[in-house]
Amino acid sequence: MTRVALINPNWTYGGSIYFGCRQPHLPIELGVSQWMLREQGHQTLLLDAHMFDLSIDDIRSEIRSFAPDVIVITTAPTYLFWRCAPPELRVPQHLAEALRDLAPRLIAVGPHGSVTPRAVLRKLDVDLVVMGECEETLLKAVDGRLDSAGLCYRDGSRLQVNGGPQAARFVDQPALSWPSEMVRRHHHHHHRFDAEPVAPGCEVEASRGCPYHCTFCAKDNFRNAYRKRPHDVILAEVDQLIAQGARYVYFIDEIFLPDQQLLQGLVSREIQFGVQTRIDLWKPPLLELLGRAGCVSIEAGVESLTPEGRAALEKKCRMTTQELADRLVEARRHVPFVQANLIEMPQDDDAVVQDWRRQMQDAGIWANDPVPLYPYPGSPDYRKLWGEPDDQAWERAHDYYLTLFDRFSDVQNERPLPLRELELAR
Ligand code: SF4
Repeated sequence: MTRVALINPNWTYGGSIYFGCRQPHLPIELGVSQWMLREQGHQTLLLDAHMFDLSIDDIRSEIRSFAPDVIVITTAPTYLFWRCAPPELRVPQHLAEALRDLAPRLIAVGPHGSVTPRAVLRKLDVDLVVMGECEETLLKAVDGRLDSAGLCYRDGSRLQVNGGPQAARFVDQPALSWPSEMVRRHHHHHHRFDAEPVAPGCEVEASRGCPYHCTFCAKDNFRNAYRKRPHDVILAEVDQLIAQGARYVYFIDEIFLPDQQLLQGLVSREIQFGVQTRIDLWKPPLLELLGRAGCVSIEAGVESLTPEGRAALEKKCRMTTQELADRLVEARRHVPFVQANLIEMPQDDDAVVQDWRRQMQDAGIWANDPVPLYPYPGSPDYRKLWGEPDDQAWERAHDYYLTLFDRFSDVQNERPLPLRELELAR
């Protein structure tokens, strides 16, 4: 039996290019890992320093009293943001440094190490880095099976990398249970704009991965292949959250695909929910069912208003721009908040884009002012620019992105800083 502390750091984002949501969310990857470790007889402590707003001193004191053999630190604020994590490792670096003397082994999990394991091992000064979806590989690491694929560790002065990033089975993951105090503190309703939260909101994972391969999407090293949990398990997890007081869940699925049976199961439940999806996959009757099931927020990636732009992004979209607009309008008839995401593309004329945004706004749909995307290491866009990521991949992507910054600074309040200014030098 090993004592394992799993920690979600207390995230801060000053100087970061991070454009994702800054509120705390359930650290699902740590929740699943905890369940698996317990099943194998290990003692665990899941410490969500973000949800509980814990200082480094608070965390040290909790960890000291738990006296773990292994400390696990995630480098991204929950699975929801692995594809768009803060590039800098500042927060996990400070945490790892503060906890170094409190356990014999420190392990990092997350999107960074999934792509550049050596750089993460060095920057965090941890003993092991897990590559890919972490749950099953972490179990092997805790059991000391260092020859397992998906692990990076020090072997004397050498850094050993075994195989590449691994995927978890996921489909047999039973309903997760979260401590009631954690649910109670989860005030935030992710990506909800139609109403103020009056009860807790949580996150649930119905499926993992996506069958598409858009060029900007950094999912190739984790959450890549599409897998889905059985309906009864998903609904059991939702029921437990409802029993704990939650009235909203966000499905963190990369792509929430139409599923009549799941939606029908949600219709009768006292829960509202949000999803991210592709609007071209939803036919009108299913959009009606989606709204009736309780969906109050849709985020749909349209990305480009020209077929050429969508083709350049490998969207594999069979609809015309007008058909996409019509489908968004149809969705808005049933769901109170619908967002169409746009990316700045050379194929799209800015005046046409602004006009389309106005048309969408008149129809009650929010479409963002397009911005170029960060070429995340591990995404096809990164590979197109620089080939396979090496140990400098994050610095390279970051420097490139900062040169684009002035063109879209209206979406950020402060100028982001280079990684070398955000991270501890290692
Ligand atoms: S549809 Fe979404 S999740 Fe799937 S590859 Fe494209 S951006 Fe990524």
